[in-house]
Amino acid sequence: MTIGIIGSGAMGAGIAQVVAVAGHDVYLLDQSTTALEKATAGIASTLRKLAEKGKMTAEAAQAATARLHPTTDIQDFSNCGLVMEAIVEELGVKQQLFRQVEMVVPADCVLASNTSSLSIASIASACQRPERFIGIHFFNPAPLMALVEIIPAVQTREGLAEEMRALVQSWGKLPVLCKDTPGFIVNRVARPFYGEAIRLLEEGVADMATIDWALTELGGFRMGPFALMDFIGHDVNYRVTESVFTSFFFDPRFKPSFTQKRLFEAGYYGRKSGRGFYNYA
Ligand code: NAD
Repeated sequence: MTIGIIGSGAMGAGIAQVVAVAGHDVYLLDQSTTALEKATAGIASTLRKLAEKGKMTAEAAQAATARLHPTTDIQDFSNCGLVMEAIVEELGVKQQLFRQVEMVVPADCVLASNTSSLSIASIASACQRPERFIGIHFFNPAPLMALVEIIPAVQTREGLAEEMRALVQSWGKLPVLCKDTPGFIVNRVARPFYGEAIRLLEEGVADMATIDWALTELGGFRMGPFALMDFIGHDVNYRVTESVFTSFFFDPRFKPSFTQKRLFEAGYYGRKSGRGFYNYA
């Protein structure tokens, strides 16, 4: 099956690598040629390094790289059996994108969003055939994180979630089915985790490095909350927090913080921009 992926940023590039290694031909589309070039060069280099380390054969790495087709032309999706998007976390933009996708893809092509927080039902509602729409939510970095949330919307046809669960499992991932509720499983639990860490900082209970240290060294987390938010990017992370808060009818448990909002507004997105809670320059 040929797979289309839209958005070649952190998530789209990672997902493209996963599916190319799994043996699918992949059309990776982005509106930015710079992002596409960075993604394709990054994937090729990662696969080469994996081969050098003996984690895959050089032939397999080359074959996976050859299966990856960067494009800016949506017409290349005309033979796709599955199209997944990983573009900006904005409902209107995602809805508009799927209207365009539906004009190109076959009638039985499955459409999926990698959204972290938006309702799958609301994205699907923009489609002519919402019954083929589903959430397939990977975690960052997609090639390394085994967990994938599979989220059928109320419109999703019966059986599709199970088909996608089996497909994602065949890629070596551990899919879990969950309901279409704000933040799904992981991002729902993660919002208060980030929020409480920022509140500790704002109240002067401890500094960032101490909080991160406590959670990694003592709490057993792989990354502390501030390092993790910087890794995800405040553009993505802040928008997700705002979206979950709004979707839960402004439940104070999910309230975003001004501290993070200011970082977002300043363009201090974290690692990707060289500065966030920490300085990476
Ligand atoms: P990103 O900013 O790294 O990449 C987004 C890419 O989409 C960019 O290259 C941009 O040029 C492209 N793009 C934007 N609008 C487009 C359009 N209309 N058509 C074509 N390309 C377009 O973002 P990301 O971190 O990869 O996040 C993408 C999606 O995945 C979001 O919905 C986000 O919530 C979700 N997500 C992010 C993470 C994470 O940790 N970063 C984890 C899981 C899910």
